[in-house]
Amino acid sequence: MNNKTWLVEARNVKKSFGKVEALGGITLNLEANNQYAVKGTSGSGKSTLLYLLGGLDRPSGGEIFISGKNLSLQTDDELAKFRNQFVGFVFQFHFLLQSMTCMNNILLPGRIRGGSIVEIQKDTHNLAQILGVTHCLEKYPYQLSGGEQQRINIIRALSLRPKLLLCDEPTGNLDSKNTELVTSLLKELASDYQSTLIVVTHDNDVSSKFKNQIVLKDGKLFEVL
Ligand code: ADP
Ligand code: MG
Repeated sequence: MNNKTWLVEARNVKKSFGKVEALGGITLNLEANNQYAVKGTSGSGKSTLLYLLGGLDRPSGGEIFISGKNLSLQTDDELAKFRNQFVGFVFQFHFLLQSMTCMNNILLPGRIRGGSIVEIQKDTHNLAQILGVTHCLEKYPYQLSGGEQQRINIIRALSLRPKLLLCDEPTGNLDSKNTELVTSLLKELASDYQSTLIVVTHDNDVSSKFKNQIVLKDGKLFEVL
């Protein structure tokens, strides 16, 4: 094995919630600009792993390095900054703020980061056109269908061109046509944006689109395909 720096290095990562051991020691290395599906039955620890990799939560044991940086050594403020600048999240249920237009939802991470949002606005119009949601930008999330909201969510997750794009069951409440569309768009956009894509799914139709598949079972790495 050479000495290359992996984008993500997890070393014996454990996570317990009280007596429940959600992750029992996961070790894996993920490459920059690659794409991965994380599979496994419900309760196997997929979401827990994804949240730890994105710095949304801290492991109970082990270490996570992102671009060589040890997340355990970051303060909460540093972790928040890391998430804002480094990670885009897409969840099954769209965490769009209902009181804001979709455009303002998309611009929010950029406003939190500070600095100019002109580029983000430009990207947003461009992506909205590709994803067929231009007509949604000035609407409120509740005025959109599930598939439209998920596409807005994807634009927001990409707004700061994250190195790491983490998706938790992103197609979980879409019909099969939108599932296929959203999956292929995520893959295409991640590649265009040079984001490393990790998609958690229990849907074999989604995971089969990925060359790299990480299979979890009972909080352990079962196999890597
Ligand atoms: P998956 O995403 O594969 O369905 P999760 O990572 O959500 O699995 O959960 C793994 C295990 O950890 C499950 O037994 C789940 O009940 C438990 N778990 C996850 N999050 C919490 C939490 N916040 N509090 C208590 N138990 C949790
Ligand atoms: Mg889950």
